[in-house]
Amino acid sequence: MKIYNTLTKRKEDFVPIEPGKVRMYVCGPTVYNLIHIGNARPMIVFDTCRRYMEHKGYEVNYVSNFTDVDDKIIKKANEEGVEPGVISERYIQECKQDMAGMNVKPATTHPKATEEIDGMLEMIETLIEKGHAYVAEDGTVYFKTRSFKEYGKLSHKNLDDLQGGNRSLLVSGEDQKQDPLDFVLWKPKKEGEPYWESPWCNGRPGWHIECSVMSKKYLGEEIDIHAGGEDLVFPHHENEIAQSEAANGKPFAHYWMHNAFLNIDNKKMSKSLGNFFTVRDIEKEYDLQVLRFFMLSAHYRSPLNFSAELMEAAKSGLERIRNAVSNLEFKKKTAKKGQMTAEEAALVEQAKQFTEKFDQAMDDDLNTADALSVIFELVKFSNSNTKEDNTAEYLNALETQIVELMDICGLEALPKEDLLDSEIEQLIQERQDARKAKNFARADEIRALLLEKGIVLEDTREGVKWKRG
Ligand code: AMP
Ligand code: ZN
Repeated sequence: MKIYNTLTKRKEDFVPIEPGKVRMYVCGPTVYNLIHIGNARPMIVFDTCRRYMEHKGYEVNYVSNFTDVDDKIIKKANEEGVEPGVISERYIQECKQDMAGMNVKPATTHPKATEEIDGMLEMIETLIEKGHAYVAEDGTVYFKTRSFKEYGKLSHKNLDDLQGGNRSLLVSGEDQKQDPLDFVLWKPKKEGEPYWESPWCNGRPGWHIECSVMSKKYLGEEIDIHAGGEDLVFPHHENEIAQSEAANGKPFAHYWMHNAFLNIDNKKMSKSLGNFFTVRDIEKEYDLQVLRFFMLSAHYRSPLNFSAELMEAAKSGLERIRNAVSNLEFKKKTAKKGQMTAEEAALVEQAKQFTEKFDQAMDDDLNTADALSVIFELVKFSNSNTKEDNTAEYLNALETQIVELMDICGLEALPKEDLLDSEIEQLIQERQDARKAKNFARADEIRALLLEKGIVLEDTREGVKWKRG
């Protein structure tokens, strides 16, 4: 498989550090609001990357964080008169619900910044010891950017150009920096903010340090893939590299993958511009599988413009595939039993070319746009090569092939079957029993399973309530 590496600006053969295993970190959202469909793009794209790698036989350790301490979270908490943890926990649950709706698999680990403070203190300490960081008078700890000689290697920026550009950006409160390029690792608390004790001051971490630390803890010092939206290349990922490599003395991530923006009217969809749709907004109009299909209909490094027309096109594309699969499913029920004919076997053999082409597209830097076109070709082949007297075995072979390719993309070739109320109640009971037995892993598994079917649980004092999402 070839992957375009932002670090080298080239497509490179993917060679994992450990054969058969992939260590992958994807920067996750700051949880102070419902996620918008721009945030959903990296989730869908890198989930598809993971699924494809798993399909190729890799064991993927996939880590994606929740940034749960941040100015925006604190602001919202103050507005609502609650603790910041209430806000972040609420939106983590909402985000997980959206992910399940979009068929984004839960990460192997979803660490939260506030639970990883010890690791951050440790890494900052190391950076100070090694002369890569310093403590200002007010207790702020800064990373000494110029001490890391390779700074700028990811964003392909030259330190001196940055220096000139950044001087004018110097804002008040940052005057204790030795160099305008230095960035915050730890900052003192302000009135009414959550804080942790540290050797330097009571305060909280800067944003960049959390990803360096969580990546190290859950994946090790050296990882295969680090990914996120292209707005994270600079400064976030550049700073992560500086921190991790300066602290660990090893290359951080071998491959850096960045998705292009989801735009509206050719402008980046973002909360600050106010030009966004939440995943929930879209869900009111469409099956979220349509959103996933829409996202994958473009290559992840191409900007994608959101429009009603493209969503309608995605809807009808998905329907076309689903209709073909439903037809095969229906015909199969009344078809001849027994072995497929020699002619049918030849067609099944011929159809294998589509799977090969699909793999070729995905191997070429995850070209999902081409891969979906190949699924359409296979559907066309299937539609024009089925007759009244086909055997069930043949019809099943075609159906399985389409379903498998769709599945790699996280797309359901047949609409989800709803759970019956009684089945839901039974699973909830099983979850309660698991919790009583302190088998929290099983309890979480059941919660996730229900979420996947669109069932949201709420633990209240009166017991567990559920609703269809
Ligand atoms: P944030 O919560 O803003 O840090 O964003 C979480 C993830 O969503 C990051 O990987 C961002 O790069 C990505 N992201 C945010 N807006 C967009 C957008 N309009 N298109 C694509 N990715 C985005
Ligand atoms: Zn990050």
